[in-house]
Amino acid sequence: MRGAVIHAPGDVRFETLDDPRILKPTDAIIRTAVTCVCGSDLWPWRGLDATDEAHPMGHEYVGFVEEVGAEVTAVKPGQFVVGSFATSDNTCANCRNGWQSNCLDREFMSTCQAEYVRIPHAQGTLVATDEVPGEEFWPSLLAVSDVMGTGWYAADAAEVRPGSTAVVVGDGAVGLCAVIAAKEMGAERIIAMSRHEPRQKLAREFGATHIVTERGDEGVARIKELTDGIGADSVLECVGTAQAMRQALHSARPGGSVGFVGVPHDVAVDGQELFFSHVGLRGGPAPVRRYLPDLIERVLSGHIDPGKVFDLTLPLEQVAEGYRAMDERRAIKALLKP
Ligand SMILES: [Zn+2]
Repeated sequence: MRGAVIHAPGDVRFETLDDPRILKPTDAIIRTAVTCVCGSDLWPWRGLDATDEAHPMGHEYVGFVEEVGAEVTAVKPGQFVVGSFATSDNTCANCRNGWQSNCLDREFMSTCQAEYVRIPHAQGTLVATDEVPGEEFWPSLLAVSDVMGTGWYAADAAEVRPGSTAVVVGDGAVGLCAVIAAKEMGAERIIAMSRHEPRQKLAREFGATHIVTERGDEGVARIKELTDGIGADSVLECVGTAQAMRQALHSARPGGSVGFVGVPHDVAVDGQELFFSHVGLRGGPAPVRRYLPDLIERVLSGHIDPGKVFDLTLPLEQVAEGYRAMDERRAIKALLKP
């Protein structure tokens, strides 16, 4: 089969690789229906995460089950499945508590920009749809496997409640999906911080009621103006930079909460400032598996359409162009079709 391999910053190649095989009785092999490039894939592409040796890429996937190991009974060949970027047995103590992305058997997926993928702990990781969904649903189901699940967790962690005010920091695919989540959870006002016109438009389409284009202290001042001078009930931090985190913490009101889902890069939190702010803080890799059945249902019923974040579709063999387009901000998110 063929798949994407990163060799160095800016050097992703589409290469012939060994076909994945069942290595453990808990594995499954899927044939990729669609996959994509994640904002976090840009960290090694830009050289901000080191690439010491060449390795495959990709952690988002939906596909068709090809083969299952002896212990996998929950899914069977031919079914259409959605998984998460973090595998989970769905039986350990952390999984039972709903923290499947901290499963005691967790593995992070890393080979999904390929024609076939081995899924460890398939029994607990994969959710099959009742029928094979029409192709028009594939992008949204793919979004559910990572960016929509992550946006949902940002809203959950930031404790978005009906009637509340939510601020979303970041207008990438996760930030835009976080707007969908805040709306679904009943936020009355959703303030999207974005300075890119096409993304503002999509944020509004997804439910944003206000757009703030300012950043840093000016952005925080604008949020305060919109919130009786105290800040928002919930702030969803979807970037992962020091500036975005500072902006998020300063935009929450005393007693409010920040959910942070951007993978932190050089982010430090001032303990004393946090102490005196009365702001609640929770983040981490989203427990997407917990949300999958609900989010799949919301997609298949036509209630949400997070697949709109894919504004570029490429054949999988042009995967490198997907990275380039996202790096140069010509695309929000690139969908890849084998
Ligand atoms: Zn587990």
